[in-house]
Amino acid sequence: MKKKISLLGATGSIGLQTLEVIAAHPNQFELVAFSAGRNIEKVREIAAFHKPPLISVMEKIDAETLQVEFPEIRFLYGAYGLEEVAANTGADVLLNSVIGSVGLKPTLAAIRQGITIAIANKETLVAAGDIVMSEAKRCGVSILPVDSEHSAIFQALNGERSKSISRLILTASGGSFRDLTRDQLTGVTLEQALAHPNWSMGNKLTIDSATMFNKGLEVIEAHHLFNMPYDQIDCLLHKESIIHSMIEFEDTSVMAQLGSPDMRVPIQYALSYPERIPMKDPQRLKLEDIGTLHFEKMDLSRFKALALAYEAGRIGGTMPTAMNAANEMAVSQFMAGHIPFVQIDEFVERAMEQHQPVLKPNLEAILETDMQTRKIVYSMIK
Ligand code: MG
Repeated sequence: MKKKISLLGATGSIGLQTLEVIAAHPNQFELVAFSAGRNIEKVREIAAFHKPPLISVMEKIDAETLQVEFPEIRFLYGAYGLEEVAANTGADVLLNSVIGSVGLKPTLAAIRQGITIAIANKETLVAAGDIVMSEAKRCGVSILPVDSEHSAIFQALNGERSKSISRLILTASGGSFRDLTRDQLTGVTLEQALAHPNWSMGNKLTIDSATMFNKGLEVIEAHHLFNMPYDQIDCLLHKESIIHSMIEFEDTSVMAQLGSPDMRVPIQYALSYPERIPMKDPQRLKLEDIGTLHFEKMDLSRFKALALAYEAGRIGGTMPTAMNAANEMAVSQFMAGHIPFVQIDEFVERAMEQHQPVLKPNLEAILETDMQTRKIVYSMIK
Protein backbone atom coordinates (compact mmCIF):
# COMPACT_ATOMS: atom_id res chain seq x y z
CA MET A 1 0.00 0.00 0.00
CA LYS A 2 1.41 3.35 -1.06
CA LYS A 3 1.12 6.23 1.37
CA LYS A 4 -0.82 9.08 -0.18
CA ILE A 5 0.92 12.39 0.42
CA SER A 6 -0.41 15.89 -0.02
CA LEU A 7 2.08 18.72 0.13
CA LEU A 8 1.64 22.38 1.00
CA GLY A 9 4.41 24.67 -0.23
CA ALA A 10 5.75 22.39 -2.99
CA THR A 11 8.08 24.91 -4.66
CA GLY A 12 9.90 25.97 -1.49
CA SER A 13 13.11 24.39 -0.24
CA ILE A 14 11.43 21.76 1.98
CA GLY A 15 8.71 21.16 -0.63
CA LEU A 16 11.21 20.40 -3.40
CA GLN A 17 13.18 18.07 -1.13
CA THR A 18 9.90 16.33 -0.18
CA LEU A 19 9.23 15.78 -3.90
CA GLU A 20 12.73 14.29 -4.24
CA VAL A 21 11.97 11.85 -1.42
CA ILE A 22 8.61 10.90 -3.01
CA ALA A 23 10.23 10.45 -6.45
CA ALA A 24 12.98 8.28 -4.95
CA HIS A 25 10.41 5.86 -3.45
CA PRO A 26 7.67 5.36 -6.05
CA ASN A 27 6.55 2.10 -4.40
CA GLN A 28 6.10 3.72 -0.99
CA PHE A 29 4.74 7.19 -1.72
CA GLU A 30 2.30 8.80 -4.10
CA LEU A 31 1.70 12.56 -4.41
CA VAL A 32 -2.07 13.17 -4.46
CA ALA A 33 -2.12 16.99 -4.29
CA PHE A 34 0.12 19.98 -3.79
CA SER A 35 -0.03 23.72 -3.37
CA ALA A 36 2.39 26.36 -4.57
CA GLY A 37 2.54 30.14 -4.81
CA ARG A 38 3.54 32.00 -7.94
CA ASN A 39 6.43 29.86 -9.25
CA ILE A 40 4.36 28.57 -12.17
CA GLU A 41 7.30 27.19 -14.13
CA LYS A 42 8.09 24.85 -11.22
CA VAL A 43 4.40 23.94 -10.87
CA ARG A 44 4.42 22.83 -14.53
CA GLU A 45 7.48 20.65 -13.94
CA ILE A 46 6.02 19.03 -10.82
CA ALA A 47 2.61 18.55 -12.46
CA ALA A 48 4.13 16.85 -15.51
CA PHE A 49 6.29 14.54 -13.40
CA HIS A 50 3.98 13.56 -10.52
CA LYS A 51 0.56 14.05 -12.21
CA PRO A 52 -1.39 14.50 -8.97
CA PRO A 53 -5.19 14.83 -9.35
CA LEU A 54 -5.30 18.23 -7.55
CA ILE A 55 -3.06 21.32 -7.53
CA SER A 56 -3.64 24.73 -5.97
CA VAL A 57 -1.77 27.93 -6.76
CA MET A 58 -1.95 31.46 -5.38
CA GLU A 59 -3.59 33.34 -8.27
CA LYS A 60 -6.78 32.61 -10.19
CA ILE A 61 -5.22 33.57 -13.53
CA ASP A 62 -2.42 31.01 -13.05
CA ALA A 63 -4.92 28.29 -12.14
CA GLU A 64 -6.88 29.03 -15.33
CA THR A 65 -3.77 28.97 -17.52
CA LEU A 66 -2.59 25.69 -16.02
CA GLN A 67 -6.06 24.14 -16.31
CA VAL A 68 -5.87 24.52 -20.09
CA GLU A 69 -2.40 22.97 -20.21
CA PHE A 70 -3.24 20.02 -17.92
CA PRO A 71 -6.92 19.14 -18.46
CA GLU A 72 -6.59 15.86 -16.51
CA ILE A 73 -5.61 17.73 -13.31
CA ARG A 74 -8.02 19.84 -11.22
CA PHE A 75 -6.64 23.33 -10.47
CA LEU A 76 -7.74 25.56 -7.60
CA TYR A 77 -6.34 28.79 -6.16
CA GLY A 78 -6.12 30.95 -3.06
CA ALA A 79 -7.09 30.12 0.52
CA TYR A 80 -9.88 27.76 -0.57
CA GLY A 81 -7.47 25.81 -2.77
CA LEU A 82 -4.96 25.56 0.08
CA GLU A 83 -7.59 24.00 2.37
CA GLU A 84 -8.80 21.61 -0.33
CA VAL A 85 -5.23 20.37 -0.93
CA ALA A 86 -4.74 20.01 2.83
CA ALA A 87 -7.94 18.25 3.75
CA ASN A 88 -9.93 17.00 0.80
CA THR A 89 -7.77 14.56 -1.14
CA GLY A 90 -7.97 11.30 0.82
CA ALA A 91 -4.29 11.73 1.75
CA ASP A 92 -2.75 9.67 4.56
CA VAL A 93 -0.19 12.36 5.35
CA LEU A 94 -0.15 16.12 4.84
CA LEU A 95 3.33 17.57 4.71
CA ASN A 96 2.90 21.24 5.53
CA SER A 97 5.91 23.27 4.43
CA VAL A 98 4.35 26.66 3.82
CA ILE A 99 6.08 29.63 5.42
CA GLY A 100 4.20 31.57 8.07
CA SER A 101 0.98 31.38 10.02
CA VAL A 102 -0.97 31.12 6.73
CA GLY A 103 -0.48 27.36 7.28
CA LEU A 104 -2.69 27.33 10.38
CA LYS A 105 -6.20 26.97 8.90
CA PRO A 106 -5.29 24.25 6.37
CA THR A 107 -3.51 22.31 9.15
CA LEU A 108 -6.62 22.41 11.34
CA ALA A 109 -8.79 21.37 8.37
CA ALA A 110 -6.54 18.34 7.73
CA ILE A 111 -6.52 17.35 11.41
CA ARG A 112 -10.33 17.35 11.38
CA GLN A 113 -10.22 14.91 8.45
CA GLY A 114 -7.99 12.56 10.47
CA ILE A 115 -4.95 13.15 8.25
CA THR A 116 -1.50 12.68 9.84
CA ILE A 117 0.41 15.96 9.82
CA ALA A 118 4.12 16.12 9.01
CA ILE A 119 4.85 19.65 10.11
CA ALA A 120 7.65 21.79 8.70
CA ASN A 121 5.54 24.94 9.11
CA LYS A 122 6.76 25.96 12.57
CA GLU A 123 4.88 29.29 12.56
CA THR A 124 1.60 27.35 12.77
CA LEU A 125 2.64 25.73 16.05
CA VAL A 126 4.00 29.01 17.39
CA ALA A 127 0.89 30.99 16.48
CA ALA A 128 -1.64 28.43 17.74
CA GLY A 129 0.17 25.47 19.30
CA ASP A 130 -2.40 24.87 22.06
CA ILE A 131 -5.29 24.77 19.59
CA VAL A 132 -3.46 22.60 17.05
CA MET A 133 -2.25 20.07 19.62
CA SER A 134 -5.57 19.78 21.45
CA GLU A 135 -7.45 19.41 18.15
CA ALA A 136 -4.96 16.69 17.09
CA LYS A 137 -5.51 14.90 20.38
CA ARG A 138 -9.29 15.16 20.07
CA CYS A 139 -9.18 13.73 16.53
CA GLY A 140 -6.54 11.08 17.32
CA VAL A 141 -4.14 12.56 14.76
CA SER A 142 -0.33 12.40 14.99
CA ILE A 143 1.73 15.53 14.44
CA LEU A 144 5.14 14.38 13.18
CA PRO A 145 8.06 16.82 13.19
CA VAL A 146 9.97 17.67 10.02
CA ASP A 147 12.17 20.38 11.53
CA SER A 148 15.59 18.71 11.95
CA GLU A 149 15.86 19.50 15.69
CA HIS A 150 12.42 18.15 16.51
CA SER A 151 12.88 15.12 14.30
CA ALA A 152 16.10 14.46 16.24
CA ILE A 153 14.24 14.61 19.54
CA PHE A 154 11.42 12.49 18.14
CA GLN A 155 13.95 9.88 16.98
CA ALA A 156 15.91 9.97 20.25
CA LEU A 157 12.66 9.53 22.14
CA ASN A 158 11.78 6.30 20.29
CA GLY A 159 10.79 3.70 22.84
CA GLU A 160 11.31 6.05 25.79
CA ARG A 161 8.68 7.60 27.99
CA SER A 162 8.45 11.36 27.71
CA LYS A 163 7.85 11.66 31.45
CA SER A 164 11.43 10.49 32.09
CA ILE A 165 12.88 13.44 30.14
CA SER A 166 14.69 15.99 32.29
CA ARG A 167 15.42 18.41 29.44
CA LEU A 168 15.49 18.89 25.71
CA ILE A 169 18.64 20.37 24.23
CA LEU A 170 18.07 22.05 20.86
CA THR A 171 21.26 22.63 18.95
CA ALA A 172 21.72 25.85 16.96
CA SER A 173 24.19 26.45 14.15
CA GLY A 174 24.13 30.16 14.98
CA GLY A 175 23.18 31.30 11.47
CA SER A 176 25.03 33.65 9.13
CA PHE A 177 26.17 36.13 11.80
CA ARG A 178 27.14 33.81 14.63
CA ASP A 179 30.67 35.20 14.83
CA LEU A 180 29.62 38.86 14.91
CA THR A 181 28.93 40.87 18.07
CA ARG A 182 25.67 42.78 18.36
CA ASP A 183 27.47 46.02 17.45
CA GLN A 184 28.96 44.42 14.35
CA LEU A 185 25.45 43.60 13.09
CA THR A 186 24.86 47.25 12.21
CA GLY A 187 24.82 47.59 8.44
CA VAL A 188 24.87 43.89 7.50
CA THR A 189 23.20 43.30 4.15
CA LEU A 190 20.41 41.01 2.94
CA GLU A 191 22.95 39.04 0.89
CA GLN A 192 25.11 38.44 3.95
CA ALA A 193 22.07 37.37 5.96
CA LEU A 194 21.08 34.89 3.25
CA ALA A 195 24.44 33.12 3.25
CA HIS A 196 23.85 30.36 5.81
CA PRO A 197 27.02 28.43 6.71
CA ASN A 198 25.49 24.90 6.94
CA TRP A 199 21.95 24.55 5.67
CA SER A 200 20.39 25.46 2.36
CA MET A 201 16.92 26.78 3.20
CA GLY A 202 14.27 29.25 2.11
CA ASN A 203 14.88 32.98 2.62
CA LYS A 204 12.53 33.51 5.60
CA LEU A 205 14.10 30.61 7.48
CA THR A 206 17.63 31.77 6.69
CA ILE A 207 16.91 35.28 7.99
CA ASP A 208 15.27 33.74 11.09
CA SER A 209 18.44 31.68 11.62
CA ALA A 210 20.56 34.82 11.44
CA THR A 211 18.42 36.71 13.98
CA MET A 212 18.01 33.52 16.09
CA PHE A 213 14.22 33.85 15.90
CA ASN A 214 14.35 30.47 14.19
CA LYS A 215 15.66 28.86 17.37
CA GLY A 216 13.13 30.86 19.37
CA LEU A 217 10.27 29.57 17.20
CA GLU A 218 11.71 26.08 17.60
CA VAL A 219 11.74 26.34 21.40
CA ILE A 220 8.00 27.11 21.27
CA GLU A 221 7.48 24.37 18.69
CA ALA A 222 9.27 21.87 21.00
CA HIS A 223 7.15 23.00 23.95
CA HIS A 224 4.00 22.04 22.02
CA LEU A 225 5.22 18.92 20.20
CA PHE A 226 6.74 17.30 23.30
CA ASN A 227 4.55 18.90 25.97
CA MET A 228 7.65 20.20 27.74
CA PRO A 229 7.82 23.22 30.09
CA TYR A 230 10.09 26.07 28.92
CA ASP A 231 12.42 25.59 31.90
CA GLN A 232 13.24 22.17 30.51
CA ILE A 233 14.13 23.32 27.00
CA ASP A 234 17.71 24.51 26.47
CA CYS A 235 19.56 25.70 23.38
CA LEU A 236 23.20 24.99 22.67
CA LEU A 237 25.35 26.64 20.01
CA HIS A 238 26.85 23.87 17.85
CA LYS A 239 28.46 25.26 14.71
CA GLU A 240 28.87 22.03 12.76
CA SER A 241 25.13 21.07 12.77
CA ILE A 242 26.03 17.39 13.17
CA ILE A 243 24.17 16.71 16.40
CA HIS A 244 20.65 17.76 15.45
CA SER A 245 19.39 17.85 19.05
CA MET A 246 19.48 15.85 22.26
CA ILE A 247 17.39 14.61 25.15
CA GLU A 248 18.69 14.40 28.70
CA PHE A 249 16.80 11.83 30.78
CA GLU A 250 16.30 11.92 34.52
CA ASP A 251 19.06 9.33 35.05
CA THR A 252 21.45 11.85 33.31
CA SER A 253 21.76 9.73 30.13
CA VAL A 254 21.78 11.88 27.00
CA MET A 255 20.43 10.61 23.67
CA ALA A 256 21.44 12.50 20.54
CA GLN A 257 20.59 12.10 16.89
CA LEU A 258 23.45 12.78 14.46
CA GLY A 259 23.80 13.07 10.72
CA SER A 260 25.01 15.22 7.85
CA PRO A 261 22.95 18.42 7.51
CA ASP A 262 20.52 16.96 4.94
CA MET A 263 16.84 17.92 5.29
CA ARG A 264 15.77 14.90 3.23
CA VAL A 265 16.45 12.73 6.30
CA PRO A 266 13.85 14.27 8.66
CA ILE A 267 11.43 14.70 5.72
CA GLN A 268 11.73 11.05 4.74
CA TYR A 269 11.45 9.86 8.34
CA ALA A 270 8.22 11.83 8.83
CA LEU A 271 6.81 10.27 5.64
CA SER A 272 7.97 6.69 6.28
CA TYR A 273 7.35 6.68 10.07
CA PRO A 274 7.25 4.29 11.87
CA GLU A 275 9.44 2.55 9.25
CA ARG A 276 12.92 3.59 8.14
CA ILE A 277 13.67 3.23 4.44
CA PRO A 278 16.95 3.61 2.48
CA MET A 279 18.12 7.09 1.43
CA LYS A 280 18.80 7.77 -2.24
CA ASP A 281 22.23 9.38 -2.82
CA PRO A 282 23.03 9.22 0.91
CA GLN A 283 25.37 11.72 2.52
CA ARG A 284 26.75 9.44 5.20
CA LEU A 285 28.22 10.98 8.32
CA LYS A 286 32.00 10.55 8.46
CA LEU A 287 33.01 11.72 11.91
CA GLU A 288 36.64 10.92 11.09
CA ASP A 289 36.53 13.66 8.43
CA ILE A 290 34.89 16.16 10.78
CA GLY A 291 37.25 15.41 13.66
CA THR A 292 36.00 17.94 16.19
CA LEU A 293 32.58 19.14 17.25
CA HIS A 294 32.18 22.48 19.06
CA PHE A 295 29.63 23.60 21.63
CA GLU A 296 29.02 26.95 23.28
CA LYS A 297 26.49 28.35 25.68
CA MET A 298 23.93 30.62 23.96
CA ASP A 299 24.32 34.28 24.92
CA LEU A 300 20.77 35.62 25.36
CA SER A 301 21.92 39.25 25.38
CA ARG A 302 23.62 38.73 22.00
CA PHE A 303 20.69 36.75 20.61
CA LYS A 304 17.84 38.93 21.87
CA ALA A 305 15.35 37.09 19.63
CA LEU A 306 15.84 33.90 21.63
CA ALA A 307 15.19 35.73 24.90
CA LEU A 308 12.02 37.26 23.40
CA ALA A 309 10.78 33.84 22.29
CA TYR A 310 11.25 32.34 25.75
CA GLU A 311 9.42 35.33 27.20
CA ALA A 312 6.55 35.01 24.71
CA GLY A 313 6.32 31.27 25.29
CA ARG A 314 6.22 31.62 29.07
CA ILE A 315 3.49 34.28 28.88
CA GLY A 316 1.60 32.04 26.46
CA GLY A 317 -1.88 32.74 25.09
CA THR A 318 -1.68 35.11 22.12
CA MET A 319 1.81 36.43 22.99
CA PRO A 320 3.65 33.87 20.79
CA THR A 321 1.11 34.63 18.04
CA ALA A 322 1.97 38.34 18.27
CA MET A 323 5.70 37.64 18.38
CA ASN A 324 5.48 35.45 15.30
CA ALA A 325 3.34 37.90 13.32
CA ALA A 326 5.65 40.80 14.23
CA ASN A 327 8.65 38.78 13.13
CA GLU A 328 7.03 37.77 9.83
CA MET A 329 6.28 41.42 9.08
CA ALA A 330 9.71 42.68 10.21
CA VAL A 331 11.52 40.03 8.12
CA SER A 332 9.51 40.90 5.01
CA GLN A 333 10.28 44.60 5.57
CA PHE A 334 13.99 43.79 5.99
CA MET A 335 13.94 41.73 2.77
CA ALA A 336 12.26 44.65 1.00
CA GLY A 337 15.07 46.92 2.18
CA HIS A 338 12.88 49.07 4.44
CA ILE A 339 14.56 48.33 7.80
CA PRO A 340 18.09 47.31 8.77
CA PHE A 341 18.79 43.81 10.07
CA VAL A 342 19.38 44.90 13.68
CA GLN A 343 15.89 46.38 13.87
CA ILE A 344 14.08 43.09 13.22
CA ASP A 345 14.17 41.98 16.87
CA GLU A 346 13.62 45.58 18.05
CA PHE A 347 10.31 45.81 16.17
CA VAL A 348 9.27 42.42 17.52
CA GLU A 349 10.11 43.56 21.05
CA ARG A 350 8.06 46.75 20.62
CA ALA A 351 5.10 44.80 19.23
CA MET A 352 5.24 42.42 22.21
CA GLU A 353 5.34 45.38 24.63
CA GLN A 354 2.17 46.77 23.06
CA HIS A 355 0.32 43.47 22.91
CA GLN A 356 -2.26 42.69 25.59
CA PRO A 357 -2.28 38.90 25.54
CA VAL A 358 -5.47 36.86 25.61
CA LEU A 359 -4.58 33.90 27.81
CA LYS A 360 -6.92 31.18 26.55
CA PRO A 361 -7.56 32.33 23.00
CA ASN A 362 -9.92 30.68 20.53
CA LEU A 363 -9.06 30.56 16.84
CA GLU A 364 -10.72 33.93 16.16
CA ALA A 365 -8.58 35.64 18.84
CA ILE A 366 -5.46 34.04 17.34
CA LEU A 367 -6.30 35.19 13.82
CA GLU A 368 -7.21 38.68 15.08
CA THR A 369 -3.90 38.98 16.98
CA ASP A 370 -2.01 37.80 13.92
CA MET A 371 -3.67 40.37 11.64
CA GLN A 372 -3.57 43.30 14.11
CA THR A 373 0.09 42.75 15.00
CA ARG A 374 1.10 42.76 11.34
CA LYS A 375 -0.73 46.08 10.91
CA ILE A 376 0.89 47.58 14.03
CA VAL A 377 4.41 46.61 12.96
CA TYR A 378 3.77 47.81 9.41
CA SER A 379 2.62 51.21 10.66
CA MET A 380 5.57 51.46 13.10
CA ILE A 381 7.93 50.92 10.18
CA LYS A 382 6.17 53.46 7.96
MG1 MG B 1 15.36 23.64 12.48
